[in-house]
Amino acid sequence: MIHIRQLHKSYHTEALPLHVLKGISLDIEAGEYVAVTGASGSGKSTLLNILGILDTYDAGDYHLNGTLIKNLSERQAAGYRNEMIGFVFQSFNLINFKNALENVALPLYYKKVSRKKRNIIAMEHLDKMGLKDWAHHMPNELSGGQKQRVAIARAMISNPKVILADEPTGALDSKTTEEVMEVLTSLNREGITTIIVTHEKSVSDATNRIIHLKDGMIEYETRKNNGVHDTIQPVHNQSV
Ligand code: ADP
Ligand code: MG
Repeated sequence: MIHIRQLHKSYHTEALPLHVLKGISLDIEAGEYVAVTGASGSGKSTLLNILGILDTYDAGDYHLNGTLIKNLSERQAAGYRNEMIGFVFQSFNLINFKNALENVALPLYYKKVSRKKRNIIAMEHLDKMGLKDWAHHMPNELSGGQKQRVAIARAMISNPKVILADEPTGALDSKTTEEVMEVLTSLNREGITTIIVTHEKSVSDATNRIIHLKDGMIEYETRKNNGVHDTIQPVHNQSV
C-alpha cells in the first residue's frame, strides 16, 4: 500500500534549511495497524503529511497503492488524496458553525453529491460512530470524544483506503482516548490501513506495529507478538 524509499525532506526557512526527514525507508501493507512514535520534533507530522499528500518531499520515492506520488499537480494530489486518504487531527478541525451531520457530509458537498443523498450517507456514518442522536448538534455542544468521532465519520465518508491520524487522542482524557481507539481499531479490523501518530503508550500498544522516529530517522520498529510489542533491531538502511 505504502512504499517509501530514502525519503528526505527539509524545510526552507529564513535561517538555514532544516533537514527534518533524513532517509526514511518504509513499507506498510494494506490493512496494517501502525503507530508512529518519537519525541516532539522528530518528524512524525511531516512524515504523515507526506503520506497524506498534504506536503511534498525533496528526495526519494513514495508509492501509494502503486502510484508514484511525485511532481503531482495540485489537482492530481487532491484527486489521489480524496480517493485514498482520510485524515484525523488532534484538534478535530470541525467547522464550528456547521452541525455534526453537515461536518460529516462536507467532503460529499465538494464531490457535488446532492444534499439529500449526502445527508443520508453522513447519517449512516454518524450512526456507525454511535452519534445518530447528536447529528443536529453543533461542535461546541459535543464532548471531545464525540467531536473526534464526528471527525472520524467525516474522514470515512469518502471510503478511504488509509486513515492517517495525527495525535487523535492528544486532546482527550484516558477514558475518551479508549473510546476513540476502539473506533479506530474497529475500522482497521474492517480492513482500513490505519496509521496513528502518538505520544501515548496506550495508543501505540493498541496497534500491531510501532515505527519509532528519532531526529528524522527510523530508530527502531516493534511488532506485536502474542499481544505485546517486541523490539526488533534498529534500522540500518538509512543514510543522512
Ligand atoms: P513532530 O510531529 O514529530 O513533533 P514535525 O514533523 O512537526 O515533528 O516537525 C519536525 C521539525 O520540523 C520540527 O523542528 C519543526 O519545528 C519543523 N517544522 C515542521 N513544520 C515546519 C514548517 N512548515 N516550516 C518550518 N519548519 C517546520
Ligand atoms: Mg506532530
